[in-house]
Amino acid sequence: MAAILPPAMLGILGGGQLGRMFAVAAKTMGYCVTVLDPDENAPAAAFADRHIRAPYNDPAALRELAQSCAAVTTEFENVNADAMRELAKTTRVSPSGDCVAIAQDRIAEKSWINKAGLPTAPYLAIESVEDIQVDLAPYLPGILKTARLGYDGKGQARVKTAAEARAAYANLGGQACVLEKMLDLKLEVSAIVTRVSAAQSAVFPLAENIHKDGILDESIVPARIAPALAAQAQEMARKLADALDYVGVLAVEFFVLADDSLVVNEIAPRPHNSGHYTLTACLTDQFQQQVRALCGLLPGKTDLLSPVVMVNLLGDVWKENGGEPNWDVLMEAPNAQLHLYGKKAARPGRKMGHFNVMAATADDALEQARALKDTL
Ligand code: ADP
Ligand code: MG
Repeated sequence: MAAILPPAMLGILGGGQLGRMFAVAAKTMGYCVTVLDPDENAPAAAFADRHIRAPYNDPAALRELAQSCAAVTTEFENVNADAMRELAKTTRVSPSGDCVAIAQDRIAEKSWINKAGLPTAPYLAIESVEDIQVDLAPYLPGILKTARLGYDGKGQARVKTAAEARAAYANLGGQACVLEKMLDLKLEVSAIVTRVSAAQSAVFPLAENIHKDGILDESIVPARIAPALAAQAQEMARKLADALDYVGVLAVEFFVLADDSLVVNEIAPRPHNSGHYTLTACLTDQFQQQVRALCGLLPGKTDLLSPVVMVNLLGDVWKENGGEPNWDVLMEAPNAQLHLYGKKAARPGRKMGHFNVMAATADDALEQARALKDTL
C-alpha cells in the first residue's frame, strides 16, 4: 500500500493525553489531524486541526471521520472494535478492529497470548456463574479482573479464598471476568513494538515499571535486568505482534518472576504510559512511530540516547483547590523535561502529566527524578 504523506489528514478516536501526543507528532511531521472526542476540553483538541465533538460510536461522526481522513487510529482500546471495522471499509485503519477486540477483552487477550506460545499467569475465564463453580485452588490467592473496561487497577479485586472469589464475582455484577493467580513479582517491565509488516518492526528498549496503587508511577530505562532477559522480552513482544499480524504500536506488559522467567501480563494496542520516556530519550518516540505505522512508513530507529526515568504526575500532586505544584525547581533542571496534558481539573489518580529525567545511569536518573518530585 502506498505511503500516506503530509499534509494528509489523519484521524484519531479519543482525545486524551495519548491522542494529544499523537497529534503533536503528526502535526510536527506536517500532517493534519482530526480528533473525535465528546469532551470539549479534550487534551488532544488543542493540537488538532479539527475536533469532531461526538460519542466514539456515533455513526454520523464515524462516517465523517472516514470520509475526511486518509487514515484513522485510536488512543485507547475501549473504543468499539466494530467502529474500527466500520471505518476500515472506507479508510485505512491501524490497529485493526480485530486486534482492538482482542486487547479490550482479557479473556480473548490471554488466550491469544497463549496461542502465540507465550506464558500468562494461570487464569480461569469466567463468562457466567457456572464457570466459577469449579476448583479454584490453582488460581488462589488471586486477582479477579473484569474482562472488559479495566484500567489503572480498576475493576479488580484481590481474593484469598474460593468464597471470597465468588463473592467478589457477584460484587462485580456477574460480568465476564478472569481469575488470575497472584504471582510473586520480582519486577514489572514493558516492551513497545512498532510493526508495519512481517519484515518491518522495531522494539523500544525495555522499561522497568513501578506501580503505586495499581497506577504506573515510574518507568526506569534501561530496565535493571540482565541484557539477555531484556532481549528475550523484546523478542516476545515482536512474536506477539507477528501472531496478531499487528500493524501499529503495541505495548506488552510483563511480569519478571523470582526465577527470572517472563510472563505476559497484558497488551495495549497503542502507545503506552510506560513509553513516554521515548519522547525525550529515543531517536524516534512512540507517537512518531504511531504516525509512521499508520501512514505505512518504515518504523524509525529506537536507539536509547541516554538512561532516563519517567515520573507520572497524578492529580494528587496538585494543591488543594486546584493550585499548581511548585514547578520552579523542575523547570530549571537542565536534564528534566516536563510534559503537561492541559487537563483542567486535577483529581486524585488522574494523569495530568509526566516528566523525564536523563542522567549517566538509570540509578542516577531515578535518584534525581525522585528528588525533583519531592520539590513539587
Ligand atoms: P490494568 O489494566 O489496570 O493495568 P493489570 O492487569 O495490568 O491491570 O494490573 C495492574 C497491576 O496489578 C499490575 O501492573 C501488577 O502490579 C498487579 N497485578 C496484576 N495481575 C497480577 C498478578 N497476576 N500477580 C501479581 N500482581 C498482579
Ligand atoms: Mg496494566
